[in-house]
Amino acid sequence: MLNQLLENTDTIIALATAPGKGAIAVLRVSGPEAITLTNNVFTGKDLTQQASHTIHFGTIRDEGEIIDEVLVSLFKGPNSYTGENVVEISCHGSGFIIQQLVKLFLKQGVRYAKAGEFTKRAFLNGKFDLAQAEAVADLIAADSEAAHQAAMNQMRGGFSRQIAELREKLIHFASMIELELDFSEEDVEFADRSALQTLINELSLIIEKLIASFEVGNVIKNGVPTVIAGKPNAGKSTLLNTLLNEEKAIVSDIPGTTRDFIEDELIIEGIGFRFIDTAGLRETEDRVEAIGVQRTYEKMKKASLIIYLFDINQTSEEELQEQITQLEKLEIPYIAVANKVDLFSEGALPEYLKNHPYILPISASSLNHMEPLKAKLLEIVNLDSFKTGNTIVTNVRHYESLVNTQTALSDVLSAIDEGVTGDFLALDIRNALHHLGEITGEITTDDLLANIFSKFCIGK
Ligand code: GDP
Repeated sequence: MLNQLLENTDTIIALATAPGKGAIAVLRVSGPEAITLTNNVFTGKDLTQQASHTIHFGTIRDEGEIIDEVLVSLFKGPNSYTGENVVEISCHGSGFIIQQLVKLFLKQGVRYAKAGEFTKRAFLNGKFDLAQAEAVADLIAADSEAAHQAAMNQMRGGFSRQIAELREKLIHFASMIELELDFSEEDVEFADRSALQTLINELSLIIEKLIASFEVGNVIKNGVPTVIAGKPNAGKSTLLNTLLNEEKAIVSDIPGTTRDFIEDELIIEGIGFRFIDTAGLRETEDRVEAIGVQRTYEKMKKASLIIYLFDINQTSEEELQEQITQLEKLEIPYIAVANKVDLFSEGALPEYLKNHPYILPISASSLNHMEPLKAKLLEIVNLDSFKTGNTIVTNVRHYESLVNTQTALSDVLSAIDEGVTGDFLALDIRNALHHLGEITGEITTDDLLANIFSKFCIGK
């Protein structure tokens, strides 16, 4: 306990910018002694006498020896990122300078920060709740517009407010029921059971929507795992190259040479598609290829979207039909794409292709043909709920807590139905509250916090 207290009140330092050479690096110091200890080694103004949110030029010296000319930004607690005194030192981005500055602070008793420790302190000091703290990490990791938007909304508290409202309503009922328990001799009912039922149904509906949004949320955060499948030589590598517009996959004329999976991401209108190239779907005697084919099926099962590519010159209508039947068994959304249409003169495409609603004719080597394919990909993923501005759950921990809340709520409903006594009802409601509270961090354990913040980078 004492250790824990000390851990959260000592002064810590870490590099806040990315490691490696840059024009400028920023060192962040946080804790009660941040300003006084910086002042000890700073030559310029007396930093202890300066206002919060000001920047000061000067030098940092180790026993009179100048290490660097720096800019020091001061933030006095509680008006800082962590809620403590914070100093940000902008120095020149040399590894040597950074090392010397950090050493100088360590010599004065400052401790090197652990991963996510600044944000953890911000959480412990009530600067934001747990869901918002987690959004900070998501924001840093966001590499598409959709991921950025979802993280930003969560960091600014959109999701937290919604959870807090749900909790408040439940807490009201829990306290009414607990009041009843105090008067249990008198057999009174303060909490109207049918009003409680209505409320639980309402909450359930909202939580159901949040749970359902995770499917989209997961896609937003991690991209859509997309498999390009098809026989050897169908043009899969070519398609991937054209889509990614660079030579990421090896294109070859020899059937079955693309044995390794090449993963890459393509952002289409803010949504990431993670492409996984495959070794082809052909039944084969060749052992190396066979592993590849087996892996293809495994990958396909993990995908959320399959692009099934076939060479229109080599595929009869019957064969195609057979492949499509196989694909449909997987029950994963797919697009069938007929490749190498450039080898046909205009109007000479097979009849069955012309009117087929699910088959997209393209030439994998032509950039011009990528637009309809991209449009089709977006259409299948269908992120309408994202565009309406509704809250989207992107975090698997939140998703699990919501599922547990939902189970607890249905327990409350059955308890009301069965007419159980107030004390049992109160227990079920408390359980639902517990799981909701886990999301925003009203309910936490040290393990949970350690687990969440250890995934952050150092300096955040
Ligand atoms: P994979 O085995 O499915 O990955 O097929 P590749 O991408 O390696 O392509 C096999 C061969 O088909 C290569 O010679 C490509 O240049 C050729 N190819 C791919 N796409 C097209 C296309 O749209 N039109 C034509 N004419 N040839 C293509």
